[in-house]
Amino acid sequence: MSQTADTKEKPYKPTSPNSKLDFASIWEYDPAPESSDHVEIKDKYELFINGKFVKPSKGRYFKSTNPATNKVLTEFAEATQKDVDSAVKAARKAFEGEWSSISAKSRGKYLFRLARMLQERAREFAVLESMDGGKPIRESRDVDVPLAAAHFFYYAGWADKLDYAFPGKTPEPLGVCGQIIPWNFPLLMLAWKIAPALACGNTVVLKPAETTSLTAMKFAELVKDAGLPDGVVNIITGAGQTGAEIVNHKDIDKIAFTGSTGVGKLIQRSLAGTDKKFTLELGGKGAFIVFEDAAIDQAVEGVINAIFFNQGHVCCAGSRLLVQEGIADLLIRKLKDRMESLIVGDPLDKNTDIGAINSEQQYETINKYLEIGVEEGADVFQCKCSIPDAGYFIRPTLLTNVSQANTVVQEEIFGPVLTIQTFRTADEAIEKANNTPFGLAGGVWTDKGSKIFKVGSELRSGVVWANTYNKFDPTSPFGGYKESGVGREGGLHGLSAYLKLN
Ligand code: ADP
Repeated sequence: MSQTADTKEKPYKPTSPNSKLDFASIWEYDPAPESSDHVEIKDKYELFINGKFVKPSKGRYFKSTNPATNKVLTEFAEATQKDVDSAVKAARKAFEGEWSSISAKSRGKYLFRLARMLQERAREFAVLESMDGGKPIRESRDVDVPLAAAHFFYYAGWADKLDYAFPGKTPEPLGVCGQIIPWNFPLLMLAWKIAPALACGNTVVLKPAETTSLTAMKFAELVKDAGLPDGVVNIITGAGQTGAEIVNHKDIDKIAFTGSTGVGKLIQRSLAGTDKKFTLELGGKGAFIVFEDAAIDQAVEGVINAIFFNQGHVCCAGSRLLVQEGIADLLIRKLKDRMESLIVGDPLDKNTDIGAINSEQQYETINKYLEIGVEEGADVFQCKCSIPDAGYFIRPTLLTNVSQANTVVQEEIFGPVLTIQTFRTADEAIEKANNTPFGLAGGVWTDKGSKIFKVGSELRSGVVWANTYNKFDPTSPFGGYKESGVGREGGLHGLSAYLKLN
């Protein structure tokens, strides 16, 4: 294997204000690179196709608002079938041309570059993510952006080691991948999709969600700055119709989708009978199981993180608390006390714990579920905290006096709303935990290793956390059973989803 630089690699041309990267330094890892504090939002964003920013064929744009203020932030281009076709053609040309002719090591270098550039502009990405999607800056700064960079670093490392990852096989890229992502972790989901796809030698056409396209378009600027060959990464904006055009395009080899179970089912139906590969990461209704022997104050912190992180807009959220009878009253009392200390408000304030609901539509969906909960007999507790007058905010909420058959226990609410049920035995907890259409994530809190083992192995969930919750790492596979989806992302599993392994 050659250790010299690939002559086909393009040099990196920095355009960000504080950029210090150069081609030679790309292998060096600086754990605390200087971050740009320059935050710019353009009036209008075009489509990123074949390495250029281009106008949409029909000239249509849609507005995007800041959910914390309800003010318009910017406009994004609406990609039509013709634009999707241009993006797919560019991706195909790059796949068959330049991208396949450079070495795997060089592919890795481009990914390292993107990882470094994300770190370098971390502050800017964090501020934009919070303005666009409503999440607290503390989370964008400490979770979304660093983890996105970590995914690029992780998959950069695999790019030239695929033969070692799959011994006895001949790993080959799939081709052009259509990637459709949701609004809850816009930059992070982009990283989950683009990093493994490129590491394996594929090219991509990615569509961010219509309410949160800002960091994806910023990322397109990084792609340009990093000197990736034209057409390797294409980013197009639009709503569900644009997504459907990607899914139905005949020259796409794989669809990777993260979003609601409803849309996932539509996509699966559209793909039936085609030879496109697909991975679907869909909804969840995670159970958070607390046994009597658990460290109760830590469990309370765990619950707060499990359900209120990112306003509860988390597919693997611990949205159902199952607590053993003997400690239920104490735990609920402590939980309510702790909830009174949460700060709901301005996502850009670093003291904020819970930011804005992502959109008016999601705000209405959550409130509709609260009404249904009350109609079905639930008792509602909301903290007394103040919330801003403008924008979309919902107080952290507990629903008690609910039963397994209730809508609020069975369906994904995707907001800061926790249902609480009790159980007597481990078997009862497992049965309740597994009794929903979903199977994405769950958590168990206990002092006993044997209980962790029993519950962990009997929960029908892709991810089970023990005495912690919502911990993510690029090396861990992530994905669900039942209506939570098909396939895995992350780790080695995430690589195999982008390869032909013959
Ligand atoms: P939510 O219902 O929570 O808004 P969605 O599943 O609708 O989540 O959205 C996830 C992503 O799927 C978004 O990028 C959205 O534009 C896209 N999308 C919506 N409808 C379709 C569809 N019919 N086909 C493909 N993509 C779609």
